[in-house]
Amino acid sequence: MVFACQKDSFLRALKTKVISCKPGKINGKEVFEVVLEDTVLFPEGGGQPDDRGTINGIEVLRVLRRGATAIHYVCEEIPEGSEVDLAIDWSRRFDHMQQHSGKHLHMISSLLFGYETTSWELGKLRSHIELKCKKLSAEEIEWIEQTAYQIIRDNTPVNVHVHPSAACPELQNVSLHKQGKVKKIVVFCSFFNMSGIDRNMCCGTHVSNLSQVQVIKLFPETESMRGGTRLFFLAGDRVLKYLGKALDNERALTRMLSVGPDDHPSAVDRIQNSLKSVNKVTKSQLRELAQLEAYQLQSSSETKTYFYIHRENGDMDYMNALVNELSKQPRLVLVTVGPDKGPGQFLLFGDEKQVSQIGPKIAAVFEGKGGRKKGRYQGKANTLKTRSSAEDLPKEFTSILVNES
Ligand SMILES: [Zn+2]
Repeated sequence: MVFACQKDSFLRALKTKVISCKPGKINGKEVFEVVLEDTVLFPEGGGQPDDRGTINGIEVLRVLRRGATAIHYVCEEIPEGSEVDLAIDWSRRFDHMQQHSGKHLHMISSLLFGYETTSWELGKLRSHIELKCKKLSAEEIEWIEQTAYQIIRDNTPVNVHVHPSAACPELQNVSLHKQGKVKKIVVFCSFFNMSGIDRNMCCGTHVSNLSQVQVIKLFPETESMRGGTRLFFLAGDRVLKYLGKALDNERALTRMLSVGPDDHPSAVDRIQNSLKSVNKVTKSQLRELAQLEAYQLQSSSETKTYFYIHRENGDMDYMNALVNELSKQPRLVLVTVGPDKGPGQFLLFGDEKQVSQIGPKIAAVFEGKGGRKKGRYQGKANTLKTRSSAEDLPKEFTSILVNES
């Protein structure tokens, strides 16, 4: 069946009759499945998502195809045989029309460049066509885009033709979406432009003139897929929304970097380089600090058999440097680094047997995970709030250590 929305994509409302209304389910939800005499709500198909709208003011949750019928999913029962008013969520549909016609536009310009389109997807954010080619150069992408612009500037009309069967002689020159698989043709669209005529079997909804697509934009990055190449695009209002967002980001960056948009990349590059050198200096200073702290601890309490050290802004290098220095005497050392109440890291060093006994207990107190390697037990702490309990744990083992040494 050819629906009213396919014959005239600009129809926003329709009076029609309920043929059937039966209980059903969608996404595990109890609903009613409504079949109407005709519909302006496009049922999902041919790569185009389904419409939203209302039947007598009742929200339509989904519209799906079952054979040649469109099933409207609603939460309330609507009496069979009753006359109903259908209304469409026009902004959602017009967006889909701009993306779908934009897809055909890119198909035409890619084909003019020698690349056939094998599939497409109308995405939530951006859409893509898949071209039968291994890769595309930046020049080719620009060429496809410029060709598409020319077709828009040419004020190219889009016509819908309805045919009862594929045998119709007029359809012999129509390029089919899924050539060979289509048994029965109901709708096809023709896109006329100065370079010739392109005709496509298509069940979707389209603008009536490509000037209504207004503007298109191809993304510079492509994706390789099954030997083909995915070319991503935006059409119509989506381009303007995307540009609006990009301008907001650009303004924020200009404020943060205190340089104009042209200098954003070089400014970020400079910041990254200086950050790298600052990190390098900080790391080596933390290591030196650890050695000094260890030296101080040892000289102030030479006979102590257990040390606990915590540093909020320390790192793995700091912990290792500290332990390396303090391990010159037989003793237990526990080091933690990280914000006082937040997540962090811990390192326990000492006699292998003791470390293997105490390590997992400390990990449990920190609600974290750890592992043992050469007299060290180290891991991640999910919380350092429990630091005082963890600190006390090794104390009961230190007396044994004194006796042994
Ligand atoms: Zn199509």
